[in-house]
Amino acid sequence: MDLQLKGKRALVSGSTQGIGFAIALQLLKEGATVIINGRSTARINEAIAKLKQEVPTADVTGVAADFSNAAEVQQLLDQVKDVDILVNNAGIFEPKPFVEITDEEWLRFFEVNVLSGVRLSRYFFPKMLAKNWGRIIFIASESAIMIPEEMIHYGTTKTAQLSISRGLAELTKGTDVTVNTVLPGPTKSEGVDDFIKKLADADNVSQDQAEADFFKNKRPSSLIQRFATVSEIANLVTYVASPLSAATNGAALRADGGLLRTIF
Ligand code: NAD
Repeated sequence: MDLQLKGKRALVSGSTQGIGFAIALQLLKEGATVIINGRSTARINEAIAKLKQEVPTADVTGVAADFSNAAEVQQLLDQVKDVDILVNNAGIFEPKPFVEITDEEWLRFFEVNVLSGVRLSRYFFPKMLAKNWGRIIFIASESAIMIPEEMIHYGTTKTAQLSISRGLAELTKGTDVTVNTVLPGPTKSEGVDDFIKKLADADNVSQDQAEADFFKNKRPSSLIQRFATVSEIANLVTYVASPLSAATNGAALRADGGLLRTIF
């Protein structure tokens, strides 16, 4: 299937590793031009080199910006004037008992997970409407619906993304711009490796045991009973980014391994 992404210009936030990196890679394989983002130029250069190894013809550049810093986000926007596809992927997660989450951490999670997408969309969305084509894709999580008891702050930010995404989609009526959310389930990214390590340390068990316990105790409804691969998430995102997905708008699309039991 030709996803008709040649000539499209995409920005993927938080794409030096994990799901964001896999999304950048798939978009490049489909012939899109991609701007990646991470917090440091060194990490961006490393990621660009890896992407070019996989796709020698890749048209890929990068802009460093930390989404916990509004001034850096503005600097990114000063450099990236226009995109056709915006993937709001940057996000942080960490298991922490509710009573130990300070105001500062709540605000940091909100800024990186929610305001990142708000700030980028506020800039690019009107431009997409003006040219009557665009794709905004928020990477939320199954945790948006099934709030994880071990990181309630994270789940809260992911639910907020659903509201923003659906709200923006309402403003696309009658245009060829779409705004959707993809909800990955547990996915084997570098960030999740750290997450499992923290769970293993907290329970004083091996990482393999922590991973098995995670599906048995914390995510028992997963139908695939394993982590998704980052490319399994990127496949869905790349389709949603494509002109072929034009009839999908305002949707919350799952790549959650069947974890959510609700049908809608
Ligand atoms: P990851 O930690 O492996 O990668 C995160 C990426 O975001 C990195 O490139 C990192 O540099 C970047 N990043 C982190 N903080 C940043 C900041 N302040 N400013 C700029 N960039 C920043 O994470 P991942 O597992 O690939 O997660 C990516 C997205 O997918 C997140 O929004 C996460 O909530 C969501 N998600 C992940 C899973 C999972 O199990 N891995 C499940 C559901 C949803």
